[in-house]
Amino acid sequence: MRNDIERVLIDEAVIGKRLDAMAQDIERDFPRGTLVVIILLKGALVFAADLLRRVPRVLEIETLNVASYHGGTESTGKVDFPDRHFPEVKGRHVLLLDDILDTGRTLHAVTQRLIDEGAVAVHTAVLLAKDKIRAEEVAADYVGFQIDDEFVVGYGLDYQGLYRNLPYVGVLKPSVVH
Ligand code: 5GP
Ligand code: MG
Repeated sequence: MRNDIERVLIDEAVIGKRLDAMAQDIERDFPRGTLVVIILLKGALVFAADLLRRVPRVLEIETLNVASYHGGTESTGKVDFPDRHFPEVKGRHVLLLDDILDTGRTLHAVTQRLIDEGAVAVHTAVLLAKDKIRAEEVAADYVGFQIDDEFVVGYGLDYQGLYRNLPYVGVLKPSVVH
């Protein structure tokens, strides 16, 4: 797997340190009481597992599938909710976790849906945010790292379903991408 990586962008130790700080910010900012955390699958799985174990409070964890990428390295623009079940968020404070903020369409669509479902407040945390002009004007409340506008994998992020288990964020060799 390491042979397919051209460049390590953010290594494991640096991610861990950043998650310590993000968890503290989250713990400090949210009002007392049980928080509902929604993990967007599958990309935010690794980020969420490592972040949430650093947040010292009672949490309810929900997951949600969102389809927006459909396999390639370019966004298609459409956001689907393929799950039959939608998390119960009426009257709740919600923390939404995603792997990366790119065009902004995913966070925009999911946030809107959560508000439509009656969430009191929706805050968002992403491991990565690409430095670019977004199709939807959204800013995450908590950002792990700002990165250049290039396609990255690892730490939950995939290329065609693979590389999510890389313990760091990196860029694939061009020879691997087709
Ligand atoms: P947005 O809706 O903001 O355009 O994109 C969000 C989703 O696109 C992310 O949850 C992620 O699945 C995918 N995505 C965007 N940029 C990248 C990237 O550089 N690498 C990978 N693996 N996925 C990305
Ligand atoms: Mg994805």
